[in-house]
Amino acid sequence: MTYTQRADDDHFHDECGVFGIFGHGEAATHVVLGLHALQHRGQEACGIVSYDADDGRFHAHRALGHVGDAFGDESLMATLKGQAAIGHNRYATTGATVLRNVQPLFAEFDCGGFSVGHNGNLTNASTLRRSLVKQGCLFQSTSDTEVIVHLMAMRGGGSVIDRLTDAMRQVEGAYSLVALTEDSVIGVRDPLGVRPLVLGQLGDAWILCSETCALDIIGATWVRDVEPGEIVVLDRNGVHSLKPFAPQRQRFCVFEYIYFARPDSSIASRSVYQARRMIGAELARESHIDADLVVPIPDSGVPAAIGYAEECGLPFELGIIRNHYVGRTFIEPTDQIRHLGVRLKHNANRTLLEGKNVILVDDSIVRGTTSRKIVQMVRAAGAREVHMRISSPPTTNPCFYGIDTPSQRELLAHNLSVDAMADDIGVDSLAFITIDGLYRAMGESGRDSSFPQYCDACFSGDYPISLVDLANADKADPQLSLLWEG
Ligand code: SF4
Repeated sequence: MTYTQRADDDHFHDECGVFGIFGHGEAATHVVLGLHALQHRGQEACGIVSYDADDGRFHAHRALGHVGDAFGDESLMATLKGQAAIGHNRYATTGATVLRNVQPLFAEFDCGGFSVGHNGNLTNASTLRRSLVKQGCLFQSTSDTEVIVHLMAMRGGGSVIDRLTDAMRQVEGAYSLVALTEDSVIGVRDPLGVRPLVLGQLGDAWILCSETCALDIIGATWVRDVEPGEIVVLDRNGVHSLKPFAPQRQRFCVFEYIYFARPDSSIASRSVYQARRMIGAELARESHIDADLVVPIPDSGVPAAIGYAEECGLPFELGIIRNHYVGRTFIEPTDQIRHLGVRLKHNANRTLLEGKNVILVDDSIVRGTTSRKIVQMVRAAGAREVHMRISSPPTTNPCFYGIDTPSQRELLAHNLSVDAMADDIGVDSLAFITIDGLYRAMGESGRDSSFPQYCDACFSGDYPISLVDLANADKADPQLSLLWEG
């Protein structure tokens, strides 16, 4: 991802996407399609590892960049042979984006080869890593996924499943992973089920992937979500389920519903699009103000704006148009040109906005940089009043569970009250959905403060998984690697 994209894209960022398939003659091709559908979860790098039972070998290709660029070559695809394969889209939440960090990782154990791709973040990875290095482990990457591989190696015996189960008992964090062995594809979801993972079927083949949209693209059917703390093994005998962790109450990431997941995906049988519409409707019930138009900030604000407009009976209009063809290799070297970044991506639809009182609907405000520019643009297009409504509560805390977020001091809502944020962004009024309103929109009677139904730590500061590395940060050098590959 280029500097320009990061600079004008003021969102929390998706973590990674995973896809695995067992029992299909064109396994790797289906992984390419699945990763293509999951491209929104990570655009910095991607990789596929397949296993061919006929030649008894694993085959791999990893590359920086998008799936279409990395896997568009027919002769390359011909090398990714086999009936089982896993793939990974990477957005670098830990470890720099260099090829040695690109997943799936591969390791050779005495019990056979093992490849793994991981979505999420291990909150005790650095602590475990330091201990493993002291025991003699030589790390090849700065990715926390490699910790899992070394824990498996250090166990010194047992089947791959035994080793993996043992390793997963030692790690803490929010994760969904897919792994490939010589005779299986394995999926694991963290005990609280913070990150998504679903099981699907295509004829005799079985699939594990981050979101249902990746099943749709290959014509597969959704079977069920992998349960929190479940290990699912796909092999020639079908699907096997293991539950090695003590059961805990689920704390799925509520931000997946608000922004991360694709709106055409369903999570826990709930349509993401419908959830966003319901959140928009609740937002209108909580904080509607009289105006002429409801305008989404595209694309992520669209479903919530539809729900908002339906609820308050105002026209929904595309008052801001997004240019979908902004090149991802567009690099702007100067501050002056970089300042124009948001205009490359969004433009005001002047004929709709002129002389109107406008309600802008967006999913979140992180630093406020994009919001400020969009409000200026809407005012410059002649809007009389500009009000902003946000379909998440104020993001006051960073995420440590696999989402790329700025530090807390960079979060606008951490530093300013809602009224001060309204002044800073330049709107006539600003309102966020309340945390109870968000839970109501999700079908609950409100947030259960003793056992919250979701992870909402970036809004509440209530972190459901202990932040071991953060607590240990003052006790050791956080530096992960001495080797810099720019
Ligand atoms: S802290 Fe926020 S973004 Fe991170 S897992 Fe929890 S709800 Fe999702």
